[in-house]
Amino acid sequence: MIKRRKTITVKAGSVKIGSAWPVVIQSMTKVPTVDLARCVRQVNKLAQAGCQLVRVAVPTRADTAAFAKIIQKVAVPLIADIHFSARRAIEAIEAGAAKIRLNPGNIKDRESIHRIIDAAKMHKVAIRIGINEASIRDLRAQDVSPSKRTALMLKEMKKYVRLFEERSFTQLVLSAKSSDTWRTIEINRIIAETCDYPIHLGLTHAGLPEDAQVPSAITLGALLAEGIGDTIRVSVAGDPIEETRIAKQILIALGLHKCSRPELIVCPTCARAQTDVIKLARRVKNALKGVDKPLRVAVMGCIVNGPGEAADADLAVCAGKSKAYLYRKGRRISIVPEGKIIPRLLKELKNL
Ligand code: SF4
Repeated sequence: MIKRRKTITVKAGSVKIGSAWPVVIQSMTKVPTVDLARCVRQVNKLAQAGCQLVRVAVPTRADTAAFAKIIQKVAVPLIADIHFSARRAIEAIEAGAAKIRLNPGNIKDRESIHRIIDAAKMHKVAIRIGINEASIRDLRAQDVSPSKRTALMLKEMKKYVRLFEERSFTQLVLSAKSSDTWRTIEINRIIAETCDYPIHLGLTHAGLPEDAQVPSAITLGALLAEGIGDTIRVSVAGDPIEETRIAKQILIALGLHKCSRPELIVCPTCARAQTDVIKLARRVKNALKGVDKPLRVAVMGCIVNGPGEAADADLAVCAGKSKAYLYRKGRRISIVPEGKIIPRLLKELKNL
């Protein structure tokens, strides 16, 4: 069991962020915000995939105007992603953002930040202070050592937090991102020790989905396993549904997210396999698509090791030559010919 680091609760619309609540999955839209229909479609698809907060970039006045309309058409709370403009931040807050993501380092002056804080306070909107290693001017030089980088990021974060606290604003979520695994882990560990605000985790510029998956899982997984992290976003250069899928898998693997769908376990196959295990697993996976129960289903390639390895599965298919042995919770219930495996499996699922 993971012992979460204790934090305050921050409300982003109907979603609560903090150690008293499950870790929240976030993603971001990747279509122009002004393209209302596409943006609404993408937000809804993300929500359906399990994304609980969706961030939308609002770089122009037209974007904040569209943002206001999108909010009315979707069920999931939206976060406005702000860079450089206090005016956009205030427009997004007034439009009904559940939260805004702000890098105070790129807002021109202290007065502008104060105006954003005051608007957020008045409308009860949470703010994420999001700093990025790449956006800290002093860190752009190549020769800054890793420890100096972490120290400068921390100094920057502390400076911004003070700015908000001085104005009695505490509905804060903090994030410090880097494209480097170790630095992301290190800076978040330090931030976790210095405050009780919820932390948003992410690894920036993680790459194409196939390249981003492992570094994101390692970075976010290491921190989450230590109890650090209250909301996560996996960044990939690709479909945001992939971001949600990977985020969910990380949380499920750590026991931080309850799976509402069947979990499919497949043996890695070896020379003992008596059938094409991967082909069979794909057929089973397809058959499970409409099932929304948190069951464990195993597909094993032989009956030598298969039944033992799948003993804790609710249902296991252990392949033999032109037939399969079906197990329910470790107990053999029948032998079925190859062509009947899927219908029989579905029947057993129904019984469960
Ligand atoms: S279940 Fe059988 S086929 Fe699959 S990896 Fe284990 S021994 Fe090999």
